[in-house]
Amino acid sequence: MPDIKQPATYHSMTDPQARPRYTGVATFFRVPFTQDLTEAEIGLIGVPYDGGVTNRTGARHGPRAVRDQSSLLRRINAATGVAPFDTCRVRDLGDCWIEKPYELVGALEEIAAFYRTVVAAGVTPLSVGGDHSISLPILRAVAASGPIGMIHVDAHCDTGDDYLGSRFHHGAPFRRAVDEGLLDPARVVQIGIRGTVNDPDHWGFSQRSGMRVLLMEEFQDKGWRFAAEEARRVVGSGPVYLSFDIDSLDPSQAPGTGTPEAGGLMMTEALRLLRALRGLDVIGGDVVEVAPPFDVGSLTAFNGASVLFEILCLLAEARERRSAAG
Ligand code: MN
Ligand code: MN
Repeated sequence: MPDIKQPATYHSMTDPQARPRYTGVATFFRVPFTQDLTEAEIGLIGVPYDGGVTNRTGARHGPRAVRDQSSLLRRINAATGVAPFDTCRVRDLGDCWIEKPYELVGALEEIAAFYRTVVAAGVTPLSVGGDHSISLPILRAVAASGPIGMIHVDAHCDTGDDYLGSRFHHGAPFRRAVDEGLLDPARVVQIGIRGTVNDPDHWGFSQRSGMRVLLMEEFQDKGWRFAAEEARRVVGSGPVYLSFDIDSLDPSQAPGTGTPEAGGLMMTEALRLLRALRGLDVIGGDVVEVAPPFDVGSLTAFNGASVLFEILCLLAEARERRSAAG
């Protein structure tokens, strides 16, 4: 056998410059892949499932595209100084495997079972969808011991109800989460809401249940700083989940998504908003609805990876604070 020239490891955690970032098998942020949960403190997980989409499909291809683009990111958050890979064992746990993807209700329960294992091992999950229906089964695992708060950045409230005979789809996960006692609506803030509706009461469940709905107009008038202050006021000091739908961004910044809405957040605003959430007790997060078939120059996947890094920084700091507090 002739010798084949190979690096000993593809992703060097000790020397990030040892290999060019575009080489090797793509994992999220080039962290090591493992299926051994005892190796991970924060687990990056792909959920390549878009069986809950009501319009244009393609988010099932999100995890691969975001893994690929995430290799462009480096080790340290230059704005905040946070270095998540230095303070936490961050691992790519691979994709959440779904045996029967064409059976929606069963598929969501398969996702929940996977996340229960992750949470039981003490691993903080950070996920990439997939459509937004995946957030419900993730919440079934992370909020198993009682309702939690949520910061939800999205063009849509996703608190709809039955659609074409199904109570489960990407437009309803957070209504189901309230039904199932996973979210405390008084500790939920929804940021970036906009677009056209078929019913003037389209966002009625969010408003009547006590969620703080911050429409895009208010965001634009008052800015990211106000939105962050409002989010902090609403969720308080208790445990909070952070769910980021990429369609919250303006379509110019995220064309690769199934249900775009005109007039959304700029990436500069999204980054400032997320960085202004430092100090909250964030216990998990996701970036959903990246649909590579509609993407242009991988822009949406790249911005998705960039948002994912900001959430990772929040999770790493929160984890550190929890372990310091014992
Ligand atoms: Mn959504
Ligand atoms: Mn949306």
